[in-house]
Amino acid sequence: MSVGEKMQFKAKITCLEGADCSREIPRWSVEGEIGTVSSTGLFTATKEGQGKVCISYCQDKVKACAEVIVCPAGLVWDSELQQCACPPGTYPVYSTTLSALSALSAQSQPESPTICCPPRAVEKNGKCVCPEGTSLTRDKAACCPTGWSWDKTTQKCVISPPVDKCYTSPFGLRCHPKLKKIKKHEGIDYKVSCGSKIKSPVDGKIIFAGSQTKNVCKKNKETGKKKCSQIVTGWGKYIKIKGVDNEIYIVAHLSKFLKESGKIKGNIDEIALSGTTGTSTGCHLHFEKWEPDKTKIDPCSILSSCECCPEKDCTTLDPEKYKINEKCK
Ligand SMILES: [Zn+2]
Repeated sequence: MSVGEKMQFKAKITCLEGADCSREIPRWSVEGEIGTVSSTGLFTATKEGQGKVCISYCQDKVKACAEVIVCPAGLVWDSELQQCACPPGTYPVYSTTLSALSALSAQSQPESPTICCPPRAVEKNGKCVCPEGTSLTRDKAACCPTGWSWDKTTQKCVISPPVDKCYTSPFGLRCHPKLKKIKKHEGIDYKVSCGSKIKSPVDGKIIFAGSQTKNVCKKNKETGKKKCSQIVTGWGKYIKIKGVDNEIYIVAHLSKFLKESGKIKGNIDEIALSGTTGTSTGCHLHFEKWEPDKTKIDPCSILSSCECCPEKDCTTLDPEKYKINEKCK
């Protein structure tokens, strides 16, 4: 237990044979400077340290004690480590403000105090605060970009997948299914049927909803005149989302937009229906994640769940063995 905590002690006392205990009120006491105890056995920890909480009875013929370890405020006893430690799910954060203050004062302090903060939080004026661009997750487990959640197993901030499906094509080098050439796949493809609802993976803003097009010009053999037209290519109908940290998300090959602009809530707002527009061989969802500097990263590295469909081989090609644009099957 830690300083400031209260604990109710209970003790079952049986009277010694021959002793008259019928009228005696049990007396509680604390051995060691660790706290106080009321006549009913409610112990209040006031000072860190080790001590005992005892009960005396039956003209002091009966005495029972419980060992108590009081940790500094905010810390709890870790029986495995056999020491006071931060409560589960929090971490000691070195107090820079306090150590700077003690360095200024003439008296040197043996150790700078630490406080226990949720993962990714920092200390400011003796309190845990989330760094800029992040806030406490809904379950208060960690500081993550706003709208993200905390994965306790991997100890990472994660986003929710745009669809609750497995993926068929991973991020990395692959043989493009339509172009039949070695290309770098800059996102992942989800196996979805046509017209599936797609959710926003994060809190953010839709900054583009439209089609990727290309100008294609053909020369008329008879007249010699050039005729140009725009065709939908690449991602086809797609949505570009800007997250709270200025990172970008792309959902592509859509058939219909359900939302075309404005703010969106992660894992809540439905933004589009899946399709097969652009360079696509069938209905699927192409999903990309870019860092603010536009570096494309593997979405699986930040998704709360990311599983390759069992019937698919999701291994990528070795970039040392294959060349970009090389023909493949
Ligand atoms: Zn794709």
